[in-house]
Formats: sequence, C-alpha cells, structure tokens
Amino acid sequence: MNREPELLSVVAPMYEEEDTVDPFTERVASALGHLNYELILVNDGSKDGTRDAMARAAERDPRVKVVSLARNFGHQPALTAGLEHARGDVIVMLDGDLQDPPEVIPQMLAKWRDGIDVVYAVREQRLGETAFKRVTAKGFYRTFRRLTGLNLAVESGDFRLMDRRALDALLAMPERNRFLRGMTVWIGFSQIAVPFVRQERHAGVTKYPLRKMLRFSFDAITSFSSRPLQWATFLGFFFSIVAFLAIPLTVVARYANIFERGVPTTIIIVLLLGGIQLITLGIIGEYIGRIYEEVKHRPLYVVGERINVEEPSP
Ligand code: UDP
Ligand code: MG
Repeated sequence: MNREPELLSVVAPMYEEEDTVDPFTERVASALGHLNYELILVNDGSKDGTRDAMARAAERDPRVKVVSLARNFGHQPALTAGLEHARGDVIVMLDGDLQDPPEVIPQMLAKWRDGIDVVYAVREQRLGETAFKRVTAKGFYRTFRRLTGLNLAVESGDFRLMDRRALDALLAMPERNRFLRGMTVWIGFSQIAVPFVRQERHAGVTKYPLRKMLRFSFDAITSFSSRPLQWATFLGFFFSIVAFLAIPLTVVARYANIFERGVPTTIIIVLLLGGIQLITLGIIGEYIGRIYEEVKHRPLYVVGERINVEEPSP
C-alpha cells in the first residue's frame, strides 16, 4: 500500500507549559512543514500563561488550533478532547513538553504509508528521568501486561500515530476512566513500533508526582482487568481453609491443656483476618467507585474556549 495523508492532525495536551508552547509549535512546523497538517493544542486548565501563548501561536499560524478546557481535567481527558477535535485522516498524539520529539513523526508516517494503522513510539532510552521513575515504570508495564494479557509494549507511552479508522474505534469507546495507550492496543488493527530517545523536558516540571502515578496505574489496571477481584476471592478461600484446619487443632490443644498459650496466636489471626478483609473490601471498593464514575455519565471534559477550531460534530 502507498497512501498519502490528506490532513495530518497532531494533538498535544499542555498543563502549565507556557515556556514550551512556542518551541513546540516551531519544532512541529519544521518537522512537518512539507505536509498539510493541523496542530491541536489542548490547554488543560493551566493557571500560567499557557493559554495566552497558545492564542498568540494560533493567531500567527492558522494551522495551530486551541482547545482550552474549563479547568484541569487531567492528561488523559485532555488528550481525548484533542483527539475529538482532530479532523485529519492520520492522527498523532504526543506529550506537549517536548519529551516526545516531533521529529520522529515522519518515521511513524512512513510506516502508515506502508499500510500500518497504529504506530507507537517506544522509548529506547530516557533522558532526564530519575532511576526511580524508570524502575517503577518498567514494573508497572510488566504487571499491566501480566494482569490484562494486553500486549502493551514496555516503554511505550501515549506517543502514537493512528489511522482515522483506528481513531474512530478508539473514540467509540465510551468509558470515563481512560487509559488511552491500553485502549489503542485493545482496538487491534495492524500495529508496529518505532524506537526513539525520550528527551528531557524542555522546561517546567513533571505534572505526574508519585501520588498521581500510583492513581494512574490503578486506573489502568482496573480498567482492563478484574483479576484483583479474583485475588480477593482466592484469599478468602485460602484463609477459610486454614481456619477449618485449625478447629481440630484447638480441640487437641484443649485436652493437652496448652490452650492458654494460644492467646497471641488468636490476636495475630484476628489482626491478619481483619487486614485481609479490609484489603479485599478496598479492592471491591476500587471497582465500585469506578462503576459509580461510569454510571454518572458525566462529560469527560468541559471546553472553555476554542480558537481556529469548531466544536466537533457528533
Ligand atoms: N498534562 C496535562 N494535564 C495534566 C498533567 C499533564 O495536560 O493534568 C500534560 C503535560 O503538560 C505534558 C503531558 O501531559 O505535556 C505529560 O505530562 P508530564 O510531562 O508531566 O508527565 P511525565 O512525562 O513526567 O510522565
Ligand atoms: Mg513529560
């Protein structure tokens, strides 16, 4: 197959990245200037000058389109907002902090020309990220793959190129709890990796502190797997069996007159069972909380302002 894009949409969410807006738009322009493209910048409720910098960029260059959310909705909802406003027949999503270099996009596009529908960028090397982040990220991807059976490449992020039909399949998934990189694998189609070196942030600091990273990985796993619920059941069975085995033991201990010595054991068992019950309740609670989020059917995000771009028709 040898196809040419009619319009390439590039989507980037930004939260408090005022110093990155201009270099980002410039690097996208020089990497993709030979193509017909649109750049959709999503301002995720930044309180700094991000919105104004985006508005100036959009005034200079009509290819730059701005979707400004009414508050900070988070990375994945912001990305979804951008994807829903994209009009291209080929769509690329990448982080707006220049950690994902726009210069990789032409290589991804080459794969699409060959007929591949989803091209995901894989971090060969990460610059400027702590050893802690690299280790925890790797651990997360491994766990995720094992629990969900989904073939999400280790070291792949949200940096991806998608054909229109893949994007339409993705946007047809109605869930609130969105782990986009997992969802792009779930939809299927032909997928291929392109290696790249993850750069240092151009400016500013990460918007994913440990707390948010933990939440994110919990969201990811629960939205693709109910295995943790099964663990709860297994734990329950395991300890019930242990308890049943303990009954004849206590009878024996009673007649051997050693039952008083069992007091510490009892305390330990009560604590242990209490702990396990709380854990399993907590796991169930995590799912119920997410069911609640889903059934409320709230919109994923609220748009405060659009520049150079129309509201997407449903
Ligand atoms: N981001 C966002 N909303 C948020 C948090 C992050 O739009 O609530 C954007 C952020 O501006 C960046 C991208 O998402 O362009 C990735 O975030 P970040 O660089 O902080 O994550 P990291 O690369 O450290 O994992
Ligand atoms: Mg980053």
